[in-house]
Amino acid sequence: MRAARLHGPGDLRIETVPDPTPGAGEVVLTIAAALSCATDVKSLAHGHPSIATYPSPLGHEFAGVVQAVGAGVESVSPGDAVFCADSAPCGVCFQCRRGRESLCEDLLYLLGGFGTSLLVPERVVRTNLHPLAAGVDLRLAPLAEPLACAVHALDAVDVQPEDAVVVLGGGSLGLMLCALAATAGARPIVLDPHDERLARAADFGAAETVNAEGGTADVAAVRALTEGRGAPLVIEAVGRPEAWELAVAMACPGGTVNLFGGCARDTTFTVPTERVHYHEVTLLGTYHHAPRYIARALEILAEGRWPWRDLCGPVIGLEELPDALAGRLGRHPKFTVIPQ
Ligand SMILES: [Zn+2]
Ligand SMILES: [Zn+2]
Repeated sequence: MRAARLHGPGDLRIETVPDPTPGAGEVVLTIAAALSCATDVKSLAHGHPSIATYPSPLGHEFAGVVQAVGAGVESVSPGDAVFCADSAPCGVCFQCRRGRESLCEDLLYLLGGFGTSLLVPERVVRTNLHPLAAGVDLRLAPLAEPLACAVHALDAVDVQPEDAVVVLGGGSLGLMLCALAATAGARPIVLDPHDERLARAADFGAAETVNAEGGTADVAAVRALTEGRGAPLVIEAVGRPEAWELAVAMACPGGTVNLFGGCARDTTFTVPTERVHYHEVTLLGTYHHAPRYIARALEILAEGRWPWRDLCGPVIGLEELPDALAGRLGRHPKFTVIPQ
């Protein structure tokens, strides 16, 4: 089989590796489609918590067809179209028992969507392998992974109908967050410096868009759209400390800020103390997803209310992946890799 393997920062190779065989409880998938995203670009540049050792497989948004099952697997059969999440919590640790599976102390990551086949470990088969429902095909299903992160982000906050919800960043995740906030009846305001992203934001339920400059003018623009107060909910989906600081400034007193975008390792940001004490602004973060958010994301895709397919990016082959992630096929990090 062919697979993308990361040999170190900046060193991604497409290689031939041995075909996998499923052991007890395991499943082998024929990958049908895998999506790239900004996380892959970051992983290629400087690693990621999901990458333990090199060489590492890559690709965490994927779907496929069951090729073979190991002894004892009864949940799926060869030929089934499935979505497979890129992780599985242990279910028994301190955090799992508190319902915080994204913080599982023994979270098992599964990378390898960028390849022709993939061995799915027993724990993932048991907790996070989902047969596809009507309305979700193999090309659309990989979106369930980032969408589950967005579902998690909104599950952690209170979204009220008619409330202004600022989404900082109009990338795929920003647009997903926008659509989920709109579904909840809120009034999303999307900020991004790129006109073509803002044009798409309206398709995902944005009530207002702001051509962002990346500075205090953006805070002023949000205040102008919220009767001078700022927004009850701000979600940062850029992943830069400067944007985190702007997000904190955009919340109204009593508001909540979800600092959702993952920043580069070892970075810090500054919060004016009055925002937390005198203005009672709540700051929180959400990372990754849990099996219940994956299940919900698959339902949301099946409902088909928003033009999800527009978020899948151009189709490329596996051999083109290194060029795509290095930015040599255009600026957008989102591509659909069809490996076969
Ligand atoms: Zn991703
Ligand atoms: Zn756990």
